[in-house]
Amino acid sequence: MKASLPWLSHKDWALAKWGVPLYRVPVDPGWGCPHKKPGNIGGCTFCAEDGGRARQTLRADLPAEQVGHGIRFVRQRYGKGLLELYIQAYTATFSSVEALKAMIEPLLAEHDFVSLSLGTRPDCLPPATIQLLQEWNQHLDVWVELGAQTAQEKTLLRINRQHTWAKSKEAVGKLQAAGLKSCMHLLFGLPGESSDDMFATLDEVTALPIQALKLHNLHIIDGSLLAEEWKNRPFPVLPESAWLELVMQLIRRIPAHLPLFRVFTDSENRLAPPSEFSKGEFIHQLETEMRKRAWFQGELT
Ligand code: SF4
Repeated sequence: MKASLPWLSHKDWALAKWGVPLYRVPVDPGWGCPHKKPGNIGGCTFCAEDGGRARQTLRADLPAEQVGHGIRFVRQRYGKGLLELYIQAYTATFSSVEALKAMIEPLLAEHDFVSLSLGTRPDCLPPATIQLLQEWNQHLDVWVELGAQTAQEKTLLRINRQHTWAKSKEAVGKLQAAGLKSCMHLLFGLPGESSDDMFATLDEVTALPIQALKLHNLHIIDGSLLAEEWKNRPFPVLPESAWLELVMQLIRRIPAHLPLFRVFTDSENRLAPPSEFSKGEFIHQLETEMRKRAWFQGELT
């Protein structure tokens, strides 16, 4: 398959796998996060008050309504294509197996989803949940999106993740043993990290049996603990133009078979860095620069 971009994007990966585009329909079940108390108390310092809830889900409370809005949004904007149910925002596996079944199975029965993706923390994958995901994986493509963020222990402490890098590796191993696919989320430009730290994280991550990656550049979100820290003692935040340079270097070091489901952060209520590109402009610029330099994913692996 010839990719249309110098990296393996979600779009190209989906076309190669399914023959048609695959669109995500996000839903926030409102389960929250084991690491963040109601009222936005505690949690990871970079986390938004809403746990990263997608815009399409904001107009409805009930999962069925959110999914209805999401499917209409996809059809109006993109037209035909396959659908993935994306249990998004906060920690999707922070509930009992019974609650997961009660929320997800009616949605799977009502709509033609070919894929299911759940975003979670590496320390929130109990055996009963993995077993349920394995059952669903018999008839649809099940992905777990693991928020690892960094492999650097000092940073994990600083951003109050409350889990270690070893826990992230353990989670990938558990998913692999269960035949489930994992997409690892990484966050670049975290306070105190040098570019050596970031490349070291990438080396650790690409050595794991994962099936996809999401690369995010740090945004300081209003209302987050990091925003307070930044307001009180400002620290440099990676500008988007610097992220463009960095992400090219990262992409060159990522094995070519790994799809990159995200290469740019797109968030609401950001205080820093200043916006330099829309998402579309960033992707266009990234493609232009990589083509100009004849760089492509995996060339340095
Ligand atoms: S980033 Fe994820 S794990 Fe951390 S507080 Fe927010 S929802 Fe919880």
